[in-house]
Amino acid sequence: MKQWRSSSLGYPRIGERREWKKALEAFWEGSLSENELLTEMKEQRFSHINKQKEKGIDLIPVGDFSLYDHVLDTAFMFGLIPDRFKSETGTDDLATYFAMARGSKEAVACEMTKWFNTNYHYIVPEIDHFAPRVAHNQLLDYFLEAKNELHVKTKPVILGPLTLVKLAKGYQENDFASCVRQLIPHYMQVFKDLEEAGAEWIQVDEPVVSTSISDEEVELLKEVYHEITSGLSNVKLLLQSYFEAVDRYEEIINLPVDGIGFDFVHDEGANFAQLKKFGFPKEKVLAAGMIDGRNVWKADLNDRFEYLEKLAECVDSDQLIIQPSCSLLHTPVTIETEDSLPPLLKGALAFADEKLEEVTILTKGLNEGKASIEPVIDDQWRQLDALKQSEERNRGDVKQEVSDWNTRTPGRKLPYSRRKKVHEEFFRLPLLPATTIGSLPQTKEIRQARSKWRKGDWGNEEYKEFIERNISEWVSCQETIGLDVLVHGEFERNDMVEFFGEKLGGFAFTRFGWVQSYGSRCVKPPVVYGDVYWKEPMTVEEIAFAQSLTDKPLKGMLTGPVTITNWSFVRNDVSKFDVNRQIALALQKEIHALEERDIHMIQVDEPALREGLPLKVEKQAKYLAEAVYAFKLTTTLAKDETQIHTHMCYSNFNDIMDTIDQLDADVISIEAARSHGGLVAAFENDHYDKGIGLGVYDIHSPRIPPVEEMEKSITRALQVLDPEQFWVNPDCGLKTRNIKETVESLKNMTEAARLKREEI
Ligand code: GLN
Ligand code: ZN
Repeated sequence: MKQWRSSSLGYPRIGERREWKKALEAFWEGSLSENELLTEMKEQRFSHINKQKEKGIDLIPVGDFSLYDHVLDTAFMFGLIPDRFKSETGTDDLATYFAMARGSKEAVACEMTKWFNTNYHYIVPEIDHFAPRVAHNQLLDYFLEAKNELHVKTKPVILGPLTLVKLAKGYQENDFASCVRQLIPHYMQVFKDLEEAGAEWIQVDEPVVSTSISDEEVELLKEVYHEITSGLSNVKLLLQSYFEAVDRYEEIINLPVDGIGFDFVHDEGANFAQLKKFGFPKEKVLAAGMIDGRNVWKADLNDRFEYLEKLAECVDSDQLIIQPSCSLLHTPVTIETEDSLPPLLKGALAFADEKLEEVTILTKGLNEGKASIEPVIDDQWRQLDALKQSEERNRGDVKQEVSDWNTRTPGRKLPYSRRKKVHEEFFRLPLLPATTIGSLPQTKEIRQARSKWRKGDWGNEEYKEFIERNISEWVSCQETIGLDVLVHGEFERNDMVEFFGEKLGGFAFTRFGWVQSYGSRCVKPPVVYGDVYWKEPMTVEEIAFAQSLTDKPLKGMLTGPVTITNWSFVRNDVSKFDVNRQIALALQKEIHALEERDIHMIQVDEPALREGLPLKVEKQAKYLAEAVYAFKLTTTLAKDETQIHTHMCYSNFNDIMDTIDQLDADVISIEAARSHGGLVAAFENDHYDKGIGLGVYDIHSPRIPPVEEMEKSITRALQVLDPEQFWVNPDCGLKTRNIKETVESLKNMTEAARLKREEI
């Protein structure tokens, strides 16, 4: 019998019922002690290990678990603690760890940004006085507790040195190699400890190898891994890539490590093509990512098995490991508890647990022969085919409308310069108009009201009254604060994507399908399983109500097509671009419905536009062109006087400046506060002439920013941008902040805008 092995790259942290999130939040609120937290977290870790063991996974990861974020863990383990946190406690304790993640009274949190092309956010390591050390070998603790208490020899997982430094900030570009080199001895120490403790394999994640990498970086990879492995004798290193094909296959496979992990799902066939062309070293292990770790669909096991057989031919016997394409951090935990999905859909779904089962099924097939898994393959295929043939996936009208637009070029009727004049007349706004990004605090009361309504304890009328009362209170509160453009507050929305998904055709919802977004915050992405279509107005009632209460312009809020697509689990039988376009056409109808009720400022949020960017430069143009197309398709029929806003929350803009311009939105608001002025520089070289609001304060932290601080960031922005085009707003929506933080911060913000306006 053969001995191919199954492996897992990482398991969801949050628990079947988000126990992880609840424990963390209880700790932050003070209702759970540090000891209680650590005990609860250990239970979670152990249950994840046991679960994977029961599923039959041979190589079970440790170190994938985290109390907040694995990039922060790695930085913290190597003592990369920015000075502003050191003064607080002087130690590497849990308080310091959480202060880096969330900010504290004394220090602004570390920046947070999206993890490659996902909706997971990591804490950006800061390299200030770079003096790495192994503060505490946390990975060893994880390995030992599993070994000693569960008798499982796990596979430690760690973020590799190149990726760690690449994701960090605070160093000059030409110091990159030297920072990486300085980390080598410390990585070696961690690995040596693990080796002594009896680890067999260590998975070193280097997702940078799936981005476009330079010759120097390739040389550095060789040097680093040569040095690290030369110091190890028994433990084997597996260099893991994911999310796309590796960029420099030939060099990567020859790195002096014992195994290489590839993504054979999101590589568009490129990894396999390279493998065919250049072969694979006989002495190395090939870890094959066969099951999609980013979606929720069952795999076509027949296809996957045939693919595996081809791979098996290319490597030496027993040198193949079968695994998901990436960590299962990006999928919900289990489909088992979903009891309210239509059977047709449920039959086609697989979450983390089910994906691990698919991995073990494929492994079994290879080891014992295909006949041993034939019944499962057939059964799974039948379930996928039933969905494929369904009415929901074959709506002729939707497909027709998408193709009708193929012969036209979407876009606004007037060019921006002329629209600008129309808007000046129409809105008569002051210089530096102050506004917000849309959502206002989602208090416990609001969440409870929604849940009562969902359960049926509250009728529609009662819920509607409740929402309207909140809208009224906040409209007058915003007037008192002195904002120039108001919002309705999004109280009726649970989540900016789920809300629309629930009202559009073609979407379905799980009950427990949560995934981690940042820190303890989880999202429950909708499932786009059919053709998407607009049924009836989705947002008009609340927005028109809010506008009826004020003479100030009220900005209507929609979530854009690219964001809805990127933050949903999307069907994989048609291209994502088709899904984008179907959603865009549905939103086009919503804009029309808002205009019919006299809403003339409409924000189409695209916070997820950039995260969908392919990792390799040569693939980005096509994605961006599609994103622009979908945005323009959404806004193309807007009236001249309608001012279209958009919002994006991240600060890395250099590579998409052109795209932002091409969206042709009248006003864009973007996150800038956490980048500490870095973003403004991006506009220095670029002539952006449309309205723009660079966030003047960070909404991820409970801290209330003083007036002067925000004045300073406006001043900094106005060195580059024209006062005529500048808007004053926070970084993002305020739904996660409490009322006091929100009101006080916004008061300071409008005061800063007022003072600045007087100066001009
Ligand atoms: N309008 C949304 C809000 O304010 C935008 C959120 C986002 O960008 N993620 O909540
Ligand atoms: Zn945002």
